[in-house]
Amino acid sequence: MNTAYLLIGGNLGDRAAYLAEAVKQISVVCGRVTSISSLYETAAWGNTNQPAFYNQAICVETTLEPENLLARLLTIEIEMGRVREEKYGPRTIDLDILMVNDIVLDSPTLTIPHPQLHNRRFALLPLIEIAPTLLHPVLDKTMQELLLNCPDIKKKKKK
Ligand code: ADP
Ligand code: MG
Repeated sequence: MNTAYLLIGGNLGDRAAYLAEAVKQISVVCGRVTSISSLYETAAWGNTNQPAFYNQAICVETTLEPENLLARLLTIEIEMGRVREEKYGPRTIDLDILMVNDIVLDSPTLTIPHPQLHNRRFALLPLIEIAPTLLHPVLDKTMQELLLNCPDIKKKKKK
């Protein structure tokens, strides 16, 4: 059994409803969802001329190996109507793998831990809510320690 931490997000339509639907789909096709953070609202970065994102971290107990987990997440994204247009553009749903156990993986299609995890407050804040003492297997710091050193200073609002 693998313990996976995911970050789910979106900035189009009824954002809370999309995130709730994604959690439901993940529980059906990936495994049992054992914790869910609050919703965090973050102004978009990259392309800033778009609605603010809602993000949420969840923990999933899954028998899937990381590559298969990613494949199922990408299928859910497509089924939920995500259209990939511009990089950093608006999307109904984005499903990212933050961590799986203490696995370190770097393939052309999948990097674990997520390569931007330690740089993004919008990932660290919800993750800390459900797993404050989780240890980053490459940086050898807890998520709370990573937050203290996180360069991303954008304001986040807890919903
Ligand atoms: P982003 O999430 O950076 O905005 P996308 O959601 O379009 O971008 O993801 C692009 C690709 O990133 C995915 O198709 C996937 O192959 C790759 N990828 C690499 N590592 C991860 C990860 N940890 N979680 C999710 N996708 C990843
Ligand atoms: Mg993604």
